[in-house]
Amino acid sequence: MSNPDKTPRAVPPSSTTNAPVRRRRDQAVGIYVHVPFCARKCPYCDFAVDVRASIPHQRYAHGLIREFERRKHELEGRTVHTIYLGGGTPSIWDLDAFRHVMEHLQSAIGTQNFNEIEICMEANPVNITRENLRAWTDAGVTRLSIGCQSFQARILKILNRNHTRDQALSAVEMALEHGPGVVSLDLIYGNPEQTMDEWARDLDTVEALEGLKHLSAYNLTIEPGTAFKRRRDRGRLALPDDDLCFEMLDYLIERAEAMGLERYEVSNFARPGYRSRHNTLYWTGAEYLGLGVGAHSLRIDTAGSPNPGIFRHANPRLTDAYLSAPGEPAPDSDSAVPLSAREHFIERLFLGVRTRAGLDFAGLQFQFEGALPEGLLQKAEALLDELCDAGFLTRQADIFVPTHLGLNVADGLAQRFADAL
Ligand code: SF4
Repeated sequence: MSNPDKTPRAVPPSSTTNAPVRRRRDQAVGIYVHVPFCARKCPYCDFAVDVRASIPHQRYAHGLIREFERRKHELEGRTVHTIYLGGGTPSIWDLDAFRHVMEHLQSAIGTQNFNEIEICMEANPVNITRENLRAWTDAGVTRLSIGCQSFQARILKILNRNHTRDQALSAVEMALEHGPGVVSLDLIYGNPEQTMDEWARDLDTVEALEGLKHLSAYNLTIEPGTAFKRRRDRGRLALPDDDLCFEMLDYLIERAEAMGLERYEVSNFARPGYRSRHNTLYWTGAEYLGLGVGAHSLRIDTAGSPNPGIFRHANPRLTDAYLSAPGEPAPDSDSAVPLSAREHFIERLFLGVRTRAGLDFAGLQFQFEGALPEGLLQKAEALLDELCDAGFLTRQADIFVPTHLGLNVADGLAQRFADAL
């Protein structure tokens, strides 16, 4: 979930001539690098993906560097807290191209900063070898997020994954022994034909993995334009019903917490101290610079900038279009249109209630004071207090933290903010 290209757009725009929004006090920014290449297309996937016989490894690395050079001024006055390499499949990238980009980022943001930040990379089990683990770690990767999705042969086949159960398991074990300090794995539940028993066996496998620090477990969603969507529309996809999905979620929470993995976001679980810093930046309203095919960015230019405002930037989703002018926004994107303070404020509310880091209302007041239509901050605070009374949130001083119930209905809360504010 680390290329935040699915921000709901349910917020009707409203214009304001109020003061510009401020950045977060810590001026934090994350860098996202998208590597779109995949060995094959999974039937549930709607990410910006490029499956081709011959991957332009170096050409893509040069494109990313050109884009970074063109846009690095967007980092001025900010502090880079994280780098995230997502995809697609970043682990498919050849090591020379990968090192080339990492060395460039290291020299641009400074070796000391580079050595202290979280650098996370997504990896496919088939690419996990001793040689790759060493090279990724040497290049600065501190955290590996392995896309297993399931440990059941039948489900892996339904998901058209390019690895077996045994490959996934030995890849995770190898990464735990020889990889960077933190290993996370991704699973999907609510898969076609999946039974509760199969899900329980996946969680048994997770429990047996010694040293696992983080687990992401997503309820399968059927996205427009995917093969699963077409099959569902033809009545040829046997999905578990909502009750079974909720049962799987409840069981996941129970098992994960028994393993010492705390649920800190709707779909994310971590041992203490091992939450994803990159995704937490996104959920808590930090800016992000997205590089590469289909990558999204969020930038706040504050008072004193030539053109203050909140800007989204979306890159083209096709590799050739991207490589023809890296850093140019996609022609059909809304990136040229600034977000209003109100739109961004409402996004901050619904992202904030997705994570146990919580919604820092004092931080929001600092950023949005004077920038919103009159009375909106007070109205939002009253609504958040109402959600506390209803058991969806708890208030700890100025931080609103979602309960389990709140996390389970986070999308509904988002709609409530959009409707009420
Ligand atoms: S490997 Fe990941 S990014 Fe590539 S097609 Fe499958 S789900 Fe999508």
